[in-house]
Amino acid sequence: MSEKIQIFRSHQIYTANKANELIDGYIMTSGDRILAVYPGEVSPDHWNEAHVFHDFRGKTITPGLVDSHTHLVHGGSREHELALKLAGSSYMELHLEGGIKSTVKQTRLASFDELLEKAHKTLLSMLLHGTTSLEAKSGYGLDKDTELRVLKVNKKLDRTQAISIVSTYMGAHDLPLEFSSNEEYITFMIEELMPAIKKEDLATFCDIFCEEGIFSLEETEKIAVAAKALGFKIKIHADEIAPLGGAGLAVDLGAVSAEHLMAISDADIEKMAASDTVAVLLPATTLFLRAENFAPARKMWEKGVKIAFASDYNPGSSPCENLQMAMDMACLGMGMMPLEILKGVTINAAKAICKEKEIGSLEKGKYADLTIFDAKNVDYIFYHFGVNRVSDVFKQGRHVVHDGRLNLSEIQSCIMNK
Ligand SMILES: [Zn+2]
Repeated sequence: MSEKIQIFRSHQIYTANKANELIDGYIMTSGDRILAVYPGEVSPDHWNEAHVFHDFRGKTITPGLVDSHTHLVHGGSREHELALKLAGSSYMELHLEGGIKSTVKQTRLASFDELLEKAHKTLLSMLLHGTTSLEAKSGYGLDKDTELRVLKVNKKLDRTQAISIVSTYMGAHDLPLEFSSNEEYITFMIEELMPAIKKEDLATFCDIFCEEGIFSLEETEKIAVAAKALGFKIKIHADEIAPLGGAGLAVDLGAVSAEHLMAISDADIEKMAASDTVAVLLPATTLFLRAENFAPARKMWEKGVKIAFASDYNPGSSPCENLQMAMDMACLGMGMMPLEILKGVTINAAKAICKEKEIGSLEKGKYADLTIFDAKNVDYIFYHFGVNRVSDVFKQGRHVVHDGRLNLSEIQSCIMNK
């Protein structure tokens, strides 16, 4: 059976290819893949009546958005922290008040089905906001049962809804109450939990919260080295609050990404610029924490660091599933330009989850994942802030969001063809 051919027309197509350019032209897809992207007018013999033509003139087409840092699956919520935060409590003060530990408690109490249902609802909202692929970290279970349960929820969700999910084990998120020292907990992770996760193929990455009062540089290195030996790729939550040197360590370890980086040193910016390690920046988190400084995105960009922007969707410091919020903050808070930000939520984000060969740009052979913004040009996306600008989403060639609404039959056929 021949695959359905679809043609997409727009004056504003952001391809996220090497030239990081916008073209006025066409995208042709076949089934779930991109067949061709070309500028200019097309002669009618390129298509026939059997082809489906989508006229998106007046709108902007980008690759499907990739959210490269989320803590998708967790129990409960933490709105009780809001008043404390408004009264001036910092992230670390909230952490000591309960913070991650209160989510761990709620996650442990939640059944597989409860976690699945909650995250599924979140994913539908993410899809409506233009996200077609994401990374999802564990780390709110910490014990063996709950961590495995969370990662199994990720795996099931990857098969049973439209958005593609890449899983990360993040046991090194906090010290669970039942352990008396980091050392004891690290031994448990390395000897018991990480081999069990790999045995069931539940996670691609291992992420470590390298921060003063959480896991030290030495502890981070120990966990990362063991994780690599088991076949995990490495990510590090680095230099979020204190300039500990986590970004430099990430480079030394050959980590795929270093994330947060609000307090990165100039020396580590240079080090990252000379490496393949992607900087995943989370400006919506900075806003929500009411922190003083955003990560130095402009400086990093100018030095040549590969930058991705992500939502950091999580119940403590960024309970927001809308990746456009992070994009808006990258623009208004960090002073990044529209095309730089779009690169950070497409091809660079795909690199941050090692999926750049399949997604992240509009190029022949990649998945036909497209996000359509109701914006006549890319500047308009960032100018018209604070609302959902995404009107349509195509996931692997299926029209899963149509005129701002979920298209359930297309979502179903997307899932069937995954
Ligand atoms: Zn995070």
